Amino acid sequence: AAQPEAFNIHGHEVRCVRKDGSEFSASMSFSDVQVGGRRLFTALVMDITERKRIDRMKSEFISTVSHELRTPLTALIGSLALLKEESGPLSPTAATFIEMADKNADRLVSLVNDILEIEKIEAGMVELKMERIALGSFMEKALAMNAGYAEQHGIRYQLASPPPTVEVMADRDRLLQVLTNLLSNAAKYSPSSEVVSVRAERLDNRVKISVTDCGPGVPDEFRSRIFGKFAQADTSDTTKKGGSGLGLAISKALVEAMNGQIGYDSAVGAGATFYIVLPVA
Ligand code: ADP
Repeated sequence: AAQPEAFNIHGHEVRCVRKDGSEFSASMSFSDVQVGGRRLFTALVMDITERKRIDRMKSEFISTVSHELRTPLTALIGSLALLKEESGPLSPTAATFIEMADKNADRLVSLVNDILEIEKIEAGMVELKMERIALGSFMEKALAMNAGYAEQHGIRYQLASPPPTVEVMADRDRLLQVLTNLLSNAAKYSPSSEVVSVRAERLDNRVKISVTDCGPGVPDEFRSRIFGKFAQADTSDTTKKGGSGLGLAISKALVEAMNGQIGYDSAVGAGATFYIVLPVA
């Protein structure tokens, strides 16, 4: 007889009710094992009230700090701009240092913005403008808008085949933001002079958009954390690649808010394919 398909659900979040009627959050995991020819199931339910409370405190702390960082940062960037414009010719060394300060201030601003953005999405405060989007022209525009970034990394984005003639239901700007994130990651992790292949295909009443690179792939042990906040497989290469580990967390939150899914397939050393699945309009 055919082997039954492996059954594995990990850390699915649910609301549970206590005997006294009060509610709490729990994490449920299911899996199956074969014991002496019999198929047995295990279910694990864990009260995660405390974990959620700590997560909330952590988010509030990060968000307060981020807001507080914004004001001095704006002043810093303004001063740097004035210094460049009004201080007359600078020595090459001074110019280099100012350039460096400027770049790092920019990085800090985008980090602070990312933190505030994800906090907003998680709090359900992002308003989505859901509309019908023709896939073909959208994909072409997305690739064209990101071509400059690809060039900086010495790679090229290529549509694997013409996208199907179909409309998806999504928020145009947010979908572009998600696709841009996947494309820029693929460019960052691809060896130069490679092609990053982009594909759009129809699966019944859904559309799958995938971005495939020939980079190092994603380590298996990173799988459970990759869509988490500040998650990076190799923290030692942060400065080299740039990034905060927030891009995929933001993408996941946005895609799910648009009734879609995000995921990836990867074998270490053999590249990665990140994909999103969206409902057809
Ligand atoms: P960032 O790129 O800013 O670090 P992301 O949330 O976009 O943040 O990505 C999180 C981590 O996932 C990256 O630091 C990297 O370790 C891994 N990752 C993302 N995309 C790829 C890819 N195409 N190939 C290999 N690893 C990737």
